[in-house]
Amino acid sequence: ASGEHVPVLVIGTGYGGSVAALRLAQAGVDVHMIEMGMAWDTPGSDGKIFCSTLNPDQRSYWLRTKTKQPLNYFLGFPIDRDIPRYTGILDAEEFSGITVYQGRGVGGGSLVNGGMAVTPKRENFSFVLPSVNPDEMYDTYYPRANAGLGVGLIDSAWFESASAYQYSRVGRKHAGRSGFPWGFVPNVYDWNYMKQEQAGTATKSALAGEILYGNNYGKKSLQKTYIAQAKATGRVTISPLHRVTSVAPASGGGYTVSIDQLNTNGDVTTVKTVLADRVFFAAGSVGTSKLLVKLKATGVLPLLNDEIGKGWGDNGNVMCGRANWLWDPTGSLQSTIPCSGIDNWTAGGAFAEVAPLPVGIETFASFYLSITKNPNRAQFSWNAATGKVDLNWQTAWKQPGIDMAKTIFDKINAKEGTIYRTDLFGVYKIWGDHLTYHPLGGAVLNKATDNYGRLAGYPGLYVIDGSLIPGNTSVNPFVTITALAERNIEKIIATDL
Ligand code: FAD
Repeated sequence: ASGEHVPVLVIGTGYGGSVAALRLAQAGVDVHMIEMGMAWDTPGSDGKIFCSTLNPDQRSYWLRTKTKQPLNYFLGFPIDRDIPRYTGILDAEEFSGITVYQGRGVGGGSLVNGGMAVTPKRENFSFVLPSVNPDEMYDTYYPRANAGLGVGLIDSAWFESASAYQYSRVGRKHAGRSGFPWGFVPNVYDWNYMKQEQAGTATKSALAGEILYGNNYGKKSLQKTYIAQAKATGRVTISPLHRVTSVAPASGGGYTVSIDQLNTNGDVTTVKTVLADRVFFAAGSVGTSKLLVKLKATGVLPLLNDEIGKGWGDNGNVMCGRANWLWDPTGSLQSTIPCSGIDNWTAGGAFAEVAPLPVGIETFASFYLSITKNPNRAQFSWNAATGKVDLNWQTAWKQPGIDMAKTIFDKINAKEGTIYRTDLFGVYKIWGDHLTYHPLGGAVLNKATDNYGRLAGYPGLYVIDGSLIPGNTSVNPFVTITALAERNIEKIIATDL
């Protein structure tokens, strides 16, 4: 309620925010979480909370009147469709040179992501987080994060027979014939549920095209893990459809947090202020960076240092498809949950997920999301004329990532006598180079903050999400975001409270 005084306010309910809330609550601290998206706990008129990628409705996108599907063409035809404007689950946030996809709702990115739960190889860790001691991460915090998230591995024997993973087996065959290491990738999906879907004994979810707009059954999103545990302490309250707009030092100590309450049209219905002793920025790389850049530039938090807004990267994301021969079908039934990847990081700077193309028909296509070692970094800055925060990323900055992905797929195409698909991202366009699923950085650890996420200049203000990571994790990011949050909150609880 407006005028309330809370010990801790957390902005955002993704990985960083959920870890902070759970651990603080377990330490006996009352926590209030503010989330701009919806609660996603109530079924719609079709009996389901989330809609499928095969039939996107108003629940699919954050305040858009037309879908903005990451794969926006098929057979050269645009496939986006009109939808009612609504506070839907997936935000396709457009900056000048890149569209950044993010989850909106209680659970953040865990609501919309592929669930791939990958711990970076230890030899790559100093590249990922150079100021963090790898021993403590690999001995304590990565294991803690994997346990908290419920990470598991596909049953390798079952994998061989599951028709929904034909596309992964084709991916393995092609990787192997070109000499690339291929391996299973852990996931937070309930693999027993997946088996039941394939056997026809449970309601289909991953096998019914559910992923980008939420998953109704098998995926262990944060709602089922960290957030459920946090709520069970009785110390955590969550306000969905509330967006933080400002955090300002209060005269008597602590911080005055300004919050807009939204309706499902995205209109502001009420403006509230809350006094908080401590505030955790966990609004995601983009959300946290936008808030901090604005608050520094407009003189609300002038003591923030010059690293604010810097070091942003796209985790080197690029997408592509390959056209297979007719004797290499990838299957008309494809699980939306990827389970394998091709690792050419050391030699070529690319780690490629073997991704599904779950359109319900045989496509003879292999599809991949590559994470590459693209060195380009962008910066957020305040635009006083528009009153918005800009990001100076340019589409051409994807080229190093494309070149790295090509170290895998040019070779596979040469070996197999196949070609790239040119119909998935436009008319005669091979590379999905217009987007990222993995925004990272903007308030980098040990630069914009100290080595535990404490913001320079303001005791009691912390960053605890993907914005701490300097642009790349060498694999999918959420396990690292979670593990870093576990590390930082343990230190903060021990020394600051
Ligand atoms: P987020 O999870 O983004 O949470 C931030 C939350 O803050 C959001 O709920 C947001 O609505 C809220 N918020 C923002 N601003 C405000 C504000 N001003 N006031 C109140 N609330 C606010 N990663 C993997 O590791 N594996 C995968 O398989 C994978 N697949 C992905 C697929 C897709 C389609 C997408 C979009 C992402 C995927 N990711 C994947 C990335 C992963 O989901 C993100 O890296 C992760 O969610 C980031 O965690 P976070 O805690 O930094 O922030």
